[in-house]
Amino acid sequence: MTIDDRSEPPPEPAPGPEADEHPRGPDGRSTDHPFGSGPPPWLAASLNHCTVCGAPLALKLVAGEERERLVCANGHIAYVNPRLVVSTFPVTDEGHVLLIRRGFEPGRGLWAQPGGFLEVDETPSEGAIRETREETGLHVALGEIVGLYARLEAAVIVLAYEARIVGGEATTGPEATEIVAFPPESLPWPEIAFRTTYWALVDWLARRRPELRPSGPPPGR
Ligand SMILES: [Zn+2]
Repeated sequence: MTIDDRSEPPPEPAPGPEADEHPRGPDGRSTDHPFGSGPPPWLAASLNHCTVCGAPLALKLVAGEERERLVCANGHIAYVNPRLVVSTFPVTDEGHVLLIRRGFEPGRGLWAQPGGFLEVDETPSEGAIRETREETGLHVALGEIVGLYARLEAAVIVLAYEARIVGGEATTGPEATEIVAFPPESLPWPEIAFRTTYWALVDWLARRRPELRPSGPPPGR
């Protein structure tokens, strides 16, 4: 499998002016969940019992920890960490960016890149290729990493690769009701599903088509 597409020009070092201005770093542009606020409420509500002994969990300060942790009466700590979503921006030979219209919530009916949760027994590269194949029917070879984006309110970190289509047939299904390769000049900015997708596209443009800008503000989620 070819990972490195040598036919592409070398990337520009500058990630774009927006990236430098955000106090939480470029990955902080895509989240509103403040540092120190712990797990988002929907996730905390699902963490009621210790997975080791079954006793109730409570948020407490624990010796040796720098923040409150969910802990049971027997001292088992339930650490809560984000999950990794692996995704690709497949780019056609014409330089068009392939996006899918999502068939499921969140973001149903809106556009995003193919992707999904990394499984515990695969590398991020394997997962990104697998998810792209599952959602679009297309086989891709990964290129450069476009970026890493936080959606902490969803307890998710999104890794986005640029990719090249090397086989398969674009096939819609329940997860992707439409599959469209958009010219970079006419990306569907008002209908982008997630801020993570928005900022990844901004970063991709800054690298490949620096003369272009998004035509609207980031989406609310
Ligand atoms: Zn326990």
